[in-house]
Amino acid sequence: MQGAILQVKRFGFLLVLLLAGCTTVTEGTPTRLPLATLPRLITSTPTPEMVRGDALPTFTPVPLPQQTLPPTPTPIPQGKLYSPDEIQSRWVKNAGPATPVGFRPPPMPVPLSLHPDDHYWLARPLPSGSRNYYLEWYPFGTDVLMPELAPYRIHHGLDFPNEPGTPVLAASSGTVIHAGPLPSPRNGVNYYGNTVIIKHDWQWLGQDVYTLYAHTLELFVDVGDYVVQGQLLAGVGSSGEVSGPHLHLEVRVGNNTYGDTRNPALWLAPFEGHGTLAGRFVDRRGRMIPGASVEVRPVDVETAVRLQRTYDLSVRFDDVWRENFVVPDLPAGKYILLVGIGEAMYRRDIEILPGRTNFVVISTEFEFEPTPTPEPTMTPTETETPAPSPELP
Ligand SMILES: [Zn+2]
Repeated sequence: MQGAILQVKRFGFLLVLLLAGCTTVTEGTPTRLPLATLPRLITSTPTPEMVRGDALPTFTPVPLPQQTLPPTPTPIPQGKLYSPDEIQSRWVKNAGPATPVGFRPPPMPVPLSLHPDDHYWLARPLPSGSRNYYLEWYPFGTDVLMPELAPYRIHHGLDFPNEPGTPVLAASSGTVIHAGPLPSPRNGVNYYGNTVIIKHDWQWLGQDVYTLYAHTLELFVDVGDYVVQGQLLAGVGSSGEVSGPHLHLEVRVGNNTYGDTRNPALWLAPFEGHGTLAGRFVDRRGRMIPGASVEVRPVDVETAVRLQRTYDLSVRFDDVWRENFVVPDLPAGKYILLVGIGEAMYRRDIEILPGRTNFVVISTEFEFEPTPTPEPTMTPTETETPAPSPELP
């Protein structure tokens, strides 16, 4: 176990910052901040190549639309909101893009299952000339990756910022079962905006599969229409509760509800020459560890190509992979994977094979769940003198 996992002790201040919650990020050019506070920043000055240069409309993630409440909704405390410029300067530039400028490889044809557990059956819902790769800093299963922006709802889909009017295409064939505003049954708010939902004409593991396309500008289909893969459904827009034009894509398995969403990254076929990294980060008893940092960097390169976190426990993992992180669209090749929680960092050398899921399981050597405070064994009475608290180590 020790040989397979390199555990790197990190500095104690990491835990302090974790406990501190919202910390103030000073202006200027930070060199490196702990992962618990910010996604790891690159140490070099960003070059033009590191800053996404293709069209990225003004966009900040918005609280995720919610059709039906998750089983145990978490109260969302108030967090400071930053302007899109601040987001750009604080995270996007610092982290660098996941994909280089001019990223235009075609997606592989679907359905694609080079690994028996793969089900890359969905085509990209946007044409190759558009931004048909997802927004890295608000991935499925987590909050936004900038703590100063958080908290937002845990993301149940993937976002694709694009210019208004960019074609939104059916990811696969099926019947349109919803076309129009989608007000929340809970409070009537039209978070999703103009939305198309397709019930596909195939099943997976005996379950129906749905795709949902939100925030569109105009609709070109009606309820009851049969559509084929690649058919024009709508144009990208900013309807609903958004701060900028983008497509919000959901994949729903089993039932057409918010609580049945899965990570679309395990359904959208990779780009040519690219593969998917997925994994499960668990404690030694096999329990999923949420909120751990996940960093992917090519061998011999210090700059991470991808930074994210493991899923919140409230989202659904894939029925066969049972993952709690997915890093899609990685160019095939060798990488270093660093997964960190608390003061521990686990490293794996991995290879990404194209066109398939490359899966890794990392198990920590410690129990993740904190020991609950024990119940009092007796009720103090007024006559008792409280014993002095023992000094904590
Ligand atoms: Zn979204």
